[in-house]
Amino acid sequence: MECGDHPGVDVVSACGACKRGVCEACATYEIDGGPCCERCGRAEDERARSLGSALLALVGVGYLATLALGVAFFKARPFVGGVAAIVAIALGRALQLWIKPSAVTRRSRA
Ligand SMILES: [Zn+2]
Ligand SMILES: [Zn+2]
Repeated sequence: MECGDHPGVDVVSACGACKRGVCEACATYEIDGGPCCERCGRAEDERARSLGSALLALVGVGYLATLALGVAFFKARPFVGGVAAIVAIALGRALQLWIKPSAVTRRSRA
């Protein structure tokens, strides 16, 4: 099959996101190890980036909320900070498993 963007060039695989056939030149990104076209790669890259920062923000909020609750219930005892940190780490792990941001990499062209 011929690539839609590069006449005369055969497609080598399908984009992992939109399933469109991509040739070697079109597959400029990789999603979770599979080839991906420029358009989807950019979109996924941006999505993964914003998910990453949203995740961090949520973890920060979780940490502060636990800290505030801990201080309210137990006063500022030394273990409150530790508990808040553990909750924040657990929250981060859980969110990562739940949201599963895909690994997007830009392929370097030789
Ligand atoms: Zn695509
Ligand atoms: Zn192409």
